[in-house]
Amino acid sequence: MKSINPFTGEILKEFDPFDELQIEAALAKSEAAFRKWKISDFSDRKKLMKAAAQELRENRDEYALLLTQEMGKVIKESQAEIEKCAWVCDFYADNAESFLKSKSINLPDGATAKVIYQPLGAILAVMPWNFPFWQVFRFAAPTLMAGNTGLLKHASNVPQAALAIQQVFERAGFPEGVFQTLLIDSKTTNQIIADPRIKAVTLTGSEKAGSAVASTAGKNIKKSLLELGGSDPFIVLADADVKKAAKTAAKARMINFGQSCIAAKRFIVEESVFDEFAEVFKEEIKSMKFGNPEDSNSDYACMAREDLAFELYEQVEKSVKEGAKVLLGGKKPEKGKALFEPTILTDIPKESPAYSKELFGPVASIFKVKNEDEAISLANDSEFGLGGSLWSQDLEKAEKLAAQIETGAVFINSLVASNPHLPFGGIKKSGYGRELSQEGILEFVNIKTVYLG
Ligand code: NDP
Repeated sequence: MKSINPFTGEILKEFDPFDELQIEAALAKSEAAFRKWKISDFSDRKKLMKAAAQELRENRDEYALLLTQEMGKVIKESQAEIEKCAWVCDFYADNAESFLKSKSINLPDGATAKVIYQPLGAILAVMPWNFPFWQVFRFAAPTLMAGNTGLLKHASNVPQAALAIQQVFERAGFPEGVFQTLLIDSKTTNQIIADPRIKAVTLTGSEKAGSAVASTAGKNIKKSLLELGGSDPFIVLADADVKKAAKTAAKARMINFGQSCIAAKRFIVEESVFDEFAEVFKEEIKSMKFGNPEDSNSDYACMAREDLAFELYEQVEKSVKEGAKVLLGGKKPEKGKALFEPTILTDIPKESPAYSKELFGPVASIFKVKNEDEAISLANDSEFGLGGSLWSQDLEKAEKLAAQIETGAVFINSLVASNPHLPFGGIKKSGYGRELSQEGILEFVNIKTVYLG
């Protein structure tokens, strides 16, 4: 497994994947750790999770540099990512006990029952490279606080981040085996899911990976949670604050250089404000600074891998062949580099990838619509259903329209962002299950009924 700096092409480190003995040892350790961890007090778990938050904050710059060097995100975004991980650790340290408090139910026949929440055991997380720390911590914080143990199979291009995450928990003082990183490939991952010591699996990534992992889990009657791609609509109605919407839209598309499942991807704008929106949006993207990802002045640098840049270009090229127009960018990336020119497409035909596929990088598709009804039906004409953003100064109307958008979240007059306090997840091909908030911690527990006769 190679850790490559995508901005320079330099091989930073190489790792051998785990052999059978190492995998067996990790699974055994996870099971043994669970026996003690599941009966540990919330106060002890809380202390450790707070220590993990502190470790992240104290060494923010060291971890951030690692992310920047391994997957190319600009340093200010890496630093923000590490801080957000500390936030989610604190959030579950403070709230897990109350989220999992048992409740009593008085039955009509006079009997009572209790609902208690118990951990399941070792939970496997298959995670992607785009937010190498955040995706893992938003799984690990609730999962460990609930009394489960965690095993991480991270994306093959971020092995250093994968190992650093285990180090965070070790340095925080978690008992051995409560959180472990496995350096394994996809095939081995599917074999491990079948192992009786693994109780459930969560995956963030592509539809293809999600389908493979969920099939294996289903075959073995194990719960899975999928957080897959999205092609989030960003709807701007005629009565919106268009300038503010356009400036936010640029941020929403360019975050993490476009490599985010909840980045806004389809900008759906009412025709009376289309020209104004397109102009401000284009200028805002043009004003963003390209540079070395380690430079704190850079707004964007490169994609996480060269192949991802070429895949994205292919989608642009096909869309243009189908008739889409290029408002900005559109150039073919250079071989041997993971660079990509921010691109804006308009006049997008239904047959093109820009209409129906997820464009996982800095390419924006702007659509002109006649009215609100057309905006909503275009937003829903997608196989994805993760998030959506809606802009209007009429909040009552916006709330009504939000209910009609087929996604797991709608943010009105704001970009879509994950937040430990709010449930996060999708419908349709964006996956199922929820992360974060109380809903997130309830995904990997046994919701047990105890009837008191
Ligand atoms: P993948 O979905 O392939 O990778 C995500 C994780 O799944 C990685 O750990 C990967 O491991 C693993 N994986 C892949 N295939 C399998 C499988 N058959 N069985 C078990 N595990 C598997 O992402 P890519 O890197 O290929 O990115 C491609 C596309 O995925 C992007 O363009 C984007 O559309 C989507 N994506 C979505 C993300 C999101 O946040 N929802 C995040 C990243 C990507 P390995 O690296 O070893 O293959």
